[in-house]
Amino acid sequence: MGVKHTEGDKSNAICPHCHQVVATTLRRRDVPFSDGSGLVRDLLVAVCDKCDMVVAIPAQSTPAIQEARR
Ligand SMILES: [Zn+2]
Repeated sequence: MGVKHTEGDKSNAICPHCHQVVATTLRRRDVPFSDGSGLVRDLLVAVCDKCDMVVAIPAQSTPAIQEARR
């Protein structure tokens, strides 16, 4: 099962925008598909505390993306 992440959880990750290790916070965001065909609303993702951009999408949020694609 693994650990369930919740909104507001803090972590660290390499931000592709800041090009350094940054503190991240899990927040709900509208996330566009990589191919630009649409977006998923209120997806729980890791957001960079410095630049406020999406850094990572937790594995538990992936089914939501696949669901929204249908
Ligand atoms: Zn950043």
